[in-house]
Amino acid sequence: MEPVQALQKYFGYNSFRHQQEAIIRHVLNKKDVLALMPTGGGKSVCYQLPAVLLQGLTIVISPLIALMKDQVDSLNVNGIPAAFYNSSQSSQEQVQLTARLRNNEIRLLYLAPERLFGNESRLISFLKSLPVSLIAIDEAHCISHWGHDFRPEYLMLAGLKLEFPDIPVIALTATADKLTKKDILEKLNLKDPGVFVSSFNRENITYRVVPKKNYFGQLLNFLNDHKEDSGIIYCLSRRSTEELAEDLKGEGYSAAPYHAGLDNSVKANTQEAFLRDEVKIIVATIAFGMGINKSNVRYVVHADMPKNIEGYYQETGRAGRDGLPSEALLLYSPGDATKLKKFATIEDNPEQSRIMLKKLDDMVRYSQMHSCRRQFLLKYFDEDFSAPCGSCDYCLTEFKTFDGTLIAQKALSAVARLKERFGAGVVVDFLRAGANPKITEEHKQLKTYGIGADISKADWQRYLRELAAMGYLQFTDDVYPVLKLTPKSESVLKGLVKVELIASQTVTDQQPKVALEYEAELLATLKNLRRDMAAKENVPPYIILSDAGLVEMATYLPQTLDELRLISGFGDIKLARYGREFLMLVEGYCRSKGGLTSRMSQKSQKRERKTKSERNTRSTPKDMDTAYLSYSLFKQGQTVAEIAAARGLATATIEGHLSQYIYTGGIEVNELVADGKRLKIQDVVESYGAETLGPLKEVLGEDYSYGEIKATVAWMRKEKII
Ligand code: ADP
Ligand code: ZN
Repeated sequence: MEPVQALQKYFGYNSFRHQQEAIIRHVLNKKDVLALMPTGGGKSVCYQLPAVLLQGLTIVISPLIALMKDQVDSLNVNGIPAAFYNSSQSSQEQVQLTARLRNNEIRLLYLAPERLFGNESRLISFLKSLPVSLIAIDEAHCISHWGHDFRPEYLMLAGLKLEFPDIPVIALTATADKLTKKDILEKLNLKDPGVFVSSFNRENITYRVVPKKNYFGQLLNFLNDHKEDSGIIYCLSRRSTEELAEDLKGEGYSAAPYHAGLDNSVKANTQEAFLRDEVKIIVATIAFGMGINKSNVRYVVHADMPKNIEGYYQETGRAGRDGLPSEALLLYSPGDATKLKKFATIEDNPEQSRIMLKKLDDMVRYSQMHSCRRQFLLKYFDEDFSAPCGSCDYCLTEFKTFDGTLIAQKALSAVARLKERFGAGVVVDFLRAGANPKITEEHKQLKTYGIGADISKADWQRYLRELAAMGYLQFTDDVYPVLKLTPKSESVLKGLVKVELIASQTVTDQQPKVALEYEAELLATLKNLRRDMAAKENVPPYIILSDAGLVEMATYLPQTLDELRLISGFGDIKLARYGREFLMLVEGYCRSKGGLTSRMSQKSQKRERKTKSERNTRSTPKDMDTAYLSYSLFKQGQTVAEIAAARGLATATIEGHLSQYIYTGGIEVNELVADGKRLKIQDVVESYGAETLGPLKEVLGEDYSYGEIKATVAWMRKEKII
């Protein structure tokens, strides 16, 4: 059977994502693989599908029991025999398991590394007597000291290749930095491995950072838009998780705390309740998450700043595994950075401290920056991405700017006159001639004293932050940060550069394009049915079917089993087990609405996939598959807005996709930009270059969209004009 047929049959998906197919072919050819894929990218299928096709036993090494249980449940629901082996099982259960393994009845066996190599090494000789066809190492970054989840027991896996020299090994992780990658390859002794790096872009997540002020109020505001959704809120300390969960309960939310200090049974119950949608919000320290495969987490909030970008990206990545639009919100305060700095400094280990402080510094930069956040994040993982992304707070905001050179000069000269010895509070009071015990009589004699009285305190604070973000000022790293000049300050003071500041009231924040239009009432009843089915099977609801599958049903209203097969997640077994019940519900709903009919013809047909050749290099920054889908819809006559709505992506994303096809010649530039407009854009690009589109847009003004600019630039590249 071809892999893609098996994907449909066993998992109910009609096409591969990222480099799944190339990875799977590599594994089927008995080669070692290291696969780097973002959280939610679909790593599991990369070894689960070969496990089914290879027929022998696939051993899966996984760090957490919760994770194993989830995977095993989900495989069994798809009719794939899988089991895990751990200390919580009774000896009778273990005897049964052994018998099933002997009879080759099990395709996947999940184990923690210490089970394999610990005192019970009898297990290894037993496993060696079985027809093992593949070994998968999930969360492989746990083997590296450099990662954020180092687990000493993973080091035991160095013995794997000695014990099973001829069995292919596939290592998988979502942590991609170079040190970790090198560590994984070395410590596992992989033989001439194929290394597959997928784009780490998570299109369906919108990134936002908000300065933390009245943080509970800010949270409530955010949650108000997510009343029915599941989400995770990360805090730094155990105490704050408990307090915040209490406070949220007080506001009527179903929330529970989670941290390493809680009893194991409490943790297990909380996690279970969250998976089953009984608790909507988990307020957690970073102890929570790695074991969570729940696919319908709609948002991740960081109420405190994380320690590094790796952790932040991993944590935000827990949102939206089902591919539906999801939110990542970070509440940032410089005070958090100061607190974290203390943790990052490790006694007697200057090298490690230096690395941790550098990582923290990058996190702070991310929190304060004024450009596309997705571009920054991807750059951090060594990937190019051309902004705007259309779904981060920066790209969704139309900033109105004004010439703030004079204001900048006032601020900088105040800092200089105060001899770079004070923080923002004193500087602002000095500028506004406000009362402040730190301002002496001597200070009051200075020329700059009181020259900024016409500007409010809040605006001054904001301008100072902006000037720092632009590099004209800097805050020191002290507990009470002091404002200093920078090498760039002089050019402002001398009037050599113009400084653009953001006007206060004119910031508009748009929402990214909404997802599919579905029948909300039907979706709610489908969710209830799923919940009942899940309770009967004793598994979490998303294991029966993902939210994405439910939303598709509520959108396209399938009327027959054949139609239902085209809905994401319905493999043969799920179709046979649950298909009829779902269909009856959809049919009943359609009848009650006066005869609604199937809309399956509007669903994009199964995509014809060209087999991607195996690549050992990074994939193109934007996954061509997703671009191809937009392109084919466009060629079928849909407008950019229609495609965006149908795919639940931002219009800017779709425009980016289409521009790639202008470059390849698949789309003519005049299909997207009128000739007159193109000439004008061309003019501006010729004068200013096309490195970043933001400034071009500013020059061109309201009447020109980012899409038109992108398209013209792509065409100019094709025509080799630039
Ligand atoms: P990861 O382990 O990389 O974080 P998972 O393996 O848990 O991600 O996959 C995330 C979600 O995507 C799961 O719900 C999975 O069933 C689904 N998925 C995986 N591959 C595909 C595919 N080719 N098409 C559609 N959904 C997929
Ligand atoms: Zn962006």
